[in-house]
Amino acid sequence: MEPDSQLDSRFPTERVVRKRPPFALLLGTERFRRVRVLRTLASILVFLLCVLLIGLGEYNGWIRPLQGQVLSVLMLTSCLGFYVAIRSGWSERFEEPALTLAQVLVAQTWICVAYAITNEAHGATLILFALVMFFGVFNMNGRSAITSGAYVMVVAGLTMLYKSATDPVHYPARIELVHYIFVAVTVPVMAYLATQIAAMRHRLTAQKHDLAAALERIRELATRDELTGLINRRQLLSVLQEYKSLLRRNALEVWVALVDLDHFKRVNDTWGHGVGDEVLKGFATQATASLRSADVVSRWGGEEFLIVMLEEPGANPNAGIERLRHQLSEAQISPSVPDLRMGFSAGLARCQRDEPIEVTIDRADAALYRAKAQGRNCSVVV
Ligand code: GH3
Ligand code: MG
Ligand code: MG
Repeated sequence: MEPDSQLDSRFPTERVVRKRPPFALLLGTERFRRVRVLRTLASILVFLLCVLLIGLGEYNGWIRPLQGQVLSVLMLTSCLGFYVAIRSGWSERFEEPALTLAQVLVAQTWICVAYAITNEAHGATLILFALVMFFGVFNMNGRSAITSGAYVMVVAGLTMLYKSATDPVHYPARIELVHYIFVAVTVPVMAYLATQIAAMRHRLTAQKHDLAAALERIRELATRDELTGLINRRQLLSVLQEYKSLLRRNALEVWVALVDLDHFKRVNDTWGHGVGDEVLKGFATQATASLRSADVVSRWGGEEFLIVMLEEPGANPNAGIERLRHQLSEAQISPSVPDLRMGFSAGLARCQRDEPIEVTIDRADAALYRAKAQGRNCSVVV
């Protein structure tokens, strides 16, 4: 039973108004998708700059206009395609929704084309191979980094070979060899760096998961009783405090019932502590099943349980407790001693608006004492 969800289900708490993040139309609202879209937009900016440079190349006569225009259209269309695929969420069906490897491979292809059509200015395009690899360094896994590195080595190599054979005036073989050595040194180094960063990211993610699991365990230990799995005294007090603060805005009443198993010591003395523990667990299971989902059952200590109940004004707060008593009297509570049946005494008190919680619980305790005095296996409501 999660106390917080119980609170939500019973009380009409204020609506949480979530702030719409900036540029929601362009980037979307989901945090991770926004990061991916932003990265894609950054690459679009670089491509836009390339389109401007192609225009300049056409103007200066380094690039043939038709070739420049076709490459510009191809670059912008692919960028837009990636933007739509990521912004719409379509790419989330893939293992890597940022589509980094695909984006890097496509960009490297366009750089090879740019290399092949920029004639005397083609040396300047080499830096773009490094820029694209750099984009991928922080997002690709090791395998993608090696794939993209190998792809550049092969495709750039083939482009240089082809151009030096077909256009040796603008692409002299010796210069092409120097360019290829430049690519063959920088690209594998960047791919290696990318694999190292990917491994580091992987370690950090694993550590984050371990830490989250440890924190969850600590939270569990701090809020739950290990034997019965019920929330413990400390957590119950904070739930009760929360119920009381909500009470000011609601017509419901908050009741506490202090429940103590009758003659529990005899169970320990007759069958041993193991059976005693089974009885405590069995009672916790039965109470959780018998009471309503908004009632909060906690282990108060030993064989005492404190139950918090929300009631409509005028409703009988003891109804749920009597239902539990009836079902418990018929339930098999200890697997080791199937015939063992347990009864309990209960003291019920209503939380008064300006009364400290401790005082309410003291009143429930006094009522429990009276129930014991009246012969046990009954409730006293005060
Ligand atoms: P009464 O009807 O007056 O409540 O009598 P009782 O025997 O239920 O109550 P008493 O206070 O005399 O004994 C409670 C016993 O519960 C004593 C203690 O050893 C035992 N106890 C407390 N915590 C645990 C536990 O976690 N496991 C087991 N097996 N026994 C526990
Ligand atoms: Mg007791
Ligand atoms: Mg007892």
